[in-house]
Amino acid sequence: MAELTFSNLTKRFDGAPALDGIDARIEAGEFVALLGPSGCGKTTLLRLAAGFDQPTEGEIRVGGDIVAGPGRFVPPEDRNIGIVFQSYALWPHKTVNGNVAYPLEVRRLPKGERDRRVAEALDLTGLRDFADRTPAQLSGGQRQRVALARCLVFEPRAVLLDEPLANLDLALRASMQDVFSMFHRRTGATMLYVTHDQGEALALADRVAVMESGRIRQFAAPEVLYREPADCFVAGFVGDGAVVSAQLVAPSEGHGPRVRVLGQDLTARGRRNDVSHVSIRPENITLSDDAPLRARVTGCTYLGGRFRLALEAEGETLVAFSGQRATPGETLGVTIREPWAFRDPEAEVLMARTMSHA
Ligand code: ATP
Repeated sequence: MAELTFSNLTKRFDGAPALDGIDARIEAGEFVALLGPSGCGKTTLLRLAAGFDQPTEGEIRVGGDIVAGPGRFVPPEDRNIGIVFQSYALWPHKTVNGNVAYPLEVRRLPKGERDRRVAEALDLTGLRDFADRTPAQLSGGQRQRVALARCLVFEPRAVLLDEPLANLDLALRASMQDVFSMFHRRTGATMLYVTHDQGEALALADRVAVMESGRIRQFAAPEVLYREPADCFVAGFVGDGAVVSAQLVAPSEGHGPRVRVLGQDLTARGRRNDVSHVSIRPENITLSDDAPLRARVTGCTYLGGRFRLALEAEGETLVAFSGQRATPGETLGVTIREPWAFRDPEAEVLMARTMSHA
């Protein structure tokens, strides 16, 4: 298995950047998810890594080898990279066994070695009993497992997965997530996984690259993205909660900066003393009758075990969890504890523009 490195990777279509100077390194054996809204460039990045398309600028390395860069382009079949598509892309007339063996036939492996590797891959993906069926005789989840097994047999240097669970229903997606995790643990494969489902990205990946408009906004472990988002986009896109503007009251003296949020002074978490916003997760909110900050309930949804309350306070929408149902229209006291404080220069510029137009 090998690391994947992108340096200043740029792709323009008719002059418009789909990828805008991506710098990232995916370590050998790491499971990385590319997460972002439609059109942010996830598929373009995957296609460039696979070799289906050429970068406009920049470089891609697999292990120590440059596979795309100025004056160099290695075609997909010579990159030794496995790809799993949303659409499975199986041979309809070949059996499961035939589909999985195919990459080894192309590579002209001797029959004994081929049979051994196919049996291993079918075992690993739980398909041993389905070896003689054709794809039409399988469920969606089983087909996707065939695609994984086919990828596994030729021991690729890295595996690229393009929304592999998007065609499956919710229950199957959850069980297939377990299959992917197990596959990753057992093979130690370097995996780059494209999704716009944040639950999937946070559940599966060692690290998640959050993309927007052809750029990586933040590349970090799921819990870091959630607890310490780098900017307003990541704070709003990953996880539940609110992003609210904040003013610095006093710099950090070990416990994080004092900030003013929705008219209240409180201690935030944060590494910087130039603060423009806070990310307030539902866990940062305590509800009580007597708290000075008053919020109106605008929505209440049962999540199983607890309720999710949408609240309006000082013109902002907050999200809190509660053990009790609340009625839209009722007023509750809200205490905000240790939100994450950060500075987002782009959001400040946007806000200034909006105000100048007002
Ligand atoms: P989705 O989640 O909807 O699949 P994505 O994040 O994978 O989106 P990309 O498919 O990488 O997004 O597209 C990034 C941008 O590049 C989009 O604005 C898209 O319209 C544009 N784009 C992609 N492929 C082409 C192409 N062949 N020609 C012109 N523009 C393209």
